[in-house]
Amino acid sequence: MAAEAHSTATLRLSVGDLKVVHPITVPSGPVAAAEVVPALQGLVNAVVAAAGQGKEISCRKGCGACCRQLVPVSRTEGERLLGVIEAMPPERRRELGARFAAAATAIKGAGLDQRRGRADRELSTAYFALGIPCPFLEEESCSIHPERPLVCREYLVTSPAELCAGPAQEGVTPVPVPKVSTAARGLQDEREEWFPLAMLLEWSRTRSKGGSRKTGPEWIQRFLAKMSTKRT
Ligand code: SF4
Repeated sequence: MAAEAHSTATLRLSVGDLKVVHPITVPSGPVAAAEVVPALQGLVNAVVAAAGQGKEISCRKGCGACCRQLVPVSRTEGERLLGVIEAMPPERRRELGARFAAAATAIKGAGLDQRRGRADRELSTAYFALGIPCPFLEEESCSIHPERPLVCREYLVTSPAELCAGPAQEGVTPVPVPKVSTAARGLQDEREEWFPLAMLLEWSRTRSKGGSRKTGPEWIQRFLAKMSTKRT
């Protein structure tokens, strides 16, 4: 079978005050949006690296305080993560399934599985108060680090790590990283809503399957267009 053809380009972007030059490689032919997520991960990594340059980052392996926050995930990233879980051995999938089920029960029990008119900030504060560890968190480290969601990559702090566990996150100084991850929301369809990462398996049961296929460069162009309109 012939190897899949890929297209490479060098992106030269102005992201907020940052100048980012980043080579990107994607499948040349029509693919599902989830297949360009590795390229988006690389792009977000490049933006985060530029934002963190010269700063003393206090985030360390083994500190998972921020992994109890609400992690908003787009449909495209959700589909990628489902593929990551499907590729795991059955025993590991069972363990993860139990953790996701426990998290979903706690979230639903607190009435946080639906927005109910709440603003993002209000929802995030109530979610963090529940103290639900991300199902992917193991021994306070991310067990899917190379595949972690885009928004997880964008959260870095320069303040002492212990402040991140405080209920109101008082004194926490996040690195001002442009939230490129928001461009993944609605990548396939503008009507798509994000969902909390801990609800991934619940979401997968009711999600609309199928979805359009576009060439890798078309997906990236769409992402970049959304970046320029959505970024804050
Ligand atoms: S995916 Fe990984 S980095 Fe993100 S919240 Fe979960 S454990 Fe933390």
